[in-house]
Amino acid sequence: MTIQWFPGHMTRARREIQEKLKLIDIAIELLDARVPLSSRNPMVDEILKGKPRLILLNKADLADARTTEKWRAYFADMGIPSLAIDASTGNRVGEIPVKVRELLHDKIARQIAKGMTPRPVRGLIVGIPNVGKSTLINRLAGRNIAATGDRPGVTKGQQWIKVGTEMELLDTPGILWPKFEDQLVGFKLAMTGAIREQVLNVEDVAYFAIKELAVHYWDELAERFGLTEPPRDPEDNNELVRVMEDIGRKRGCLVSGGRVDLEKASGIILRELRAGNLGRITLESP
Ligand code: GDP
Repeated sequence: MTIQWFPGHMTRARREIQEKLKLIDIAIELLDARVPLSSRNPMVDEILKGKPRLILLNKADLADARTTEKWRAYFADMGIPSLAIDASTGNRVGEIPVKVRELLHDKIARQIAKGMTPRPVRGLIVGIPNVGKSTLINRLAGRNIAATGDRPGVTKGQQWIKVGTEMELLDTPGILWPKFEDQLVGFKLAMTGAIREQVLNVEDVAYFAIKELAVHYWDELAERFGLTEPPRDPEDNNELVRVMEDIGRKRGCLVSGGRVDLEKASGIILRELRAGNLGRITLESP
């Protein structure tokens, strides 16, 4: 699914989140651990201003673990605590409610001091499309929330989902838009699979991927596709085409006359990269 973001959409998205912020104690900002900058909304600090916040570096299973730790240190320096998780497997998802309560400890202590029984803390998941918001909500809920709302006759109003006994989540996430006016951001998001091929041409994205991988992860690329000759200059398009053809030949993507089917080769590269078959790859460092 691709969302076209125009100024009207942005204004509406922002207003929707600001309405939801009134209801919650903490905003849980989801980023893609492979591209923590490109998957970050350019205005998120301003939009969430004044709310306690937790950053989740999701899809950590696909990202370089050492770089993910550097990102956590980077956000800690900005005063924002973070966790690295995999929403799809549930790895470390159990730490989220613990961390949230730790961050809201003072607020909870004040309620107790006033003789109140503290109510569950309330959170909102926010993030750009495809970062894993629904997967995480379902994981935290322990059931399939979207499926419930999709049944006819079931009203899909805003509801609180219980996460254990001490935390609740709004069932619909806050959807933010990416920094899509930056072409490099678009290519990185396309490379990780967050933007579908309808928007950017598959071959262009694959060439971008080959260039990035040739510079930062040549060994992984060479190993996966049995390549022996790195591009002499990754800025040279002819060299990138040569690597693409090598990959296509290795995978039998041939058309008449022995030419390589570049579109098919492009599809293979992107599919295997996104599935994590080349290893754990992060495209941005702090
Ligand atoms: P949303 O648009 O933010 O709600 O994103 P979704 O929850 O629909 O997830 C987008 C895609 O990312 C789906 O194919 C998920 O299976 C996948 N996904 C979500 N979390 C993870 C994760 O931790 N690891 C991996 N490998 N894939 C994930």
